[in-house]
Amino acid sequence: MNSEEILARLIAFDTTSTQSNLELIDFVRNLLDDHGIASQLVHNEDQSRANLYTTIGPDNIGGVMLSGHTDVVPTTGQDWNSDPYQMKANADYLIGRGTCDMKGFIACVLAGLPQITTTQLQTPIHLAFSYDEEIGCVGARKLVDSMSTFEVKPRIGLIGEPTDMSMVLGHKGKVSYRVTVNGLSCHSAYISNGVNAVEYAAELIAFIRTMNSRAQQQTIDPSYSVPHSTFHVGNINGGTALNIVPKTCEFEFEIRNLPQEDLDSLVHEIKLYANDVLLVDMQSRYPQSEISFDELSYYPGLHTDPASTVMDYTRRINPVNRRGDNVSFGTEAGLFDSLGINCVVCGPGSIDQAHKPDEFVSRVQMKYCDEMIKNLVHRCRETSEFR
Ligand SMILES: [Zn+2]
Repeated sequence: MNSEEILARLIAFDTTSTQSNLELIDFVRNLLDDHGIASQLVHNEDQSRANLYTTIGPDNIGGVMLSGHTDVVPTTGQDWNSDPYQMKANADYLIGRGTCDMKGFIACVLAGLPQITTTQLQTPIHLAFSYDEEIGCVGARKLVDSMSTFEVKPRIGLIGEPTDMSMVLGHKGKVSYRVTVNGLSCHSAYISNGVNAVEYAAELIAFIRTMNSRAQQQTIDPSYSVPHSTFHVGNINGGTALNIVPKTCEFEFEIRNLPQEDLDSLVHEIKLYANDVLLVDMQSRYPQSEISFDELSYYPGLHTDPASTVMDYTRRINPVNRRGDNVSFGTEAGLFDSLGINCVVCGPGSIDQAHKPDEFVSRVQMKYCDEMIKNLVHRCRETSEFR
């Protein structure tokens, strides 16, 4: 099968995030099996989804990883002109949910299997396909956990998110939390008997807002369209009636950090204010008061050096020899980078078409990606590197 035929098969599996991706993973696994390649799966807790990982070629040296996520965003409420899970092809484009984000890349990788397996590779190629990327790199975090125990890890990685095949070296990181503030309810005529959860939540939100103002004036990186880390509260819920001092208030916030700023220490600053200032005050009036933080999603930023080996390598195999701007969307690259796998984001299709109705990838982009995989395989056959 060529990459277009494989893509049509991949599109037909509805792998919307949080739904099972196992049918797609089975299909990929069988395809690998047909070429004599064994793969391992890393499941989620209830075994309904899986990451797939495999090494082709020598297993005692680092080599090159090709990575992509198998999930797609929902089509609910979108106005499609054709069935999103039935790939439609015209002279220029392949249309369907996931064509550009990012089953197109996976299809090109799988279409390269016959070449990969016909002769011996001197440098190994690793495949890493994840689940639930779109809801916060959930699957890849599990995969990275299990990869951290590998004796030999890939040395460099290509993450095939849609970049129009240009090579992207940077994106912001992101973390999001749900905060629950629990105080003490009472009649609003006697407010000093209660601990007002809405008001304490509001103080914490105001603190998060001042961190955003500070970020606007401190670390600035003009290569991003929003050139600083951002702090944002997106929703809030609390209280039942005006004449009752509210017991509970919940809100969600996110931080999108420049990769050169330490995300953990920014989160720590918020937690410190919540615990050492607000909670101390609340508990002095009602000892059972609580402020809890539940992490909803997390991925680190990416900050690859333009002079790095991975950039040099990608430039040699990529027929579209163009460096892309840093991007606003997140990828799994930062997670892999935290394992010491230097990554470049580079894949077919444009982020402009991702997540939209009538999502498409152009045939020209698929051709470029096929060519990149061909060049990669050729190089891995001819050269032993990344030991
Ligand atoms: Zn994506």
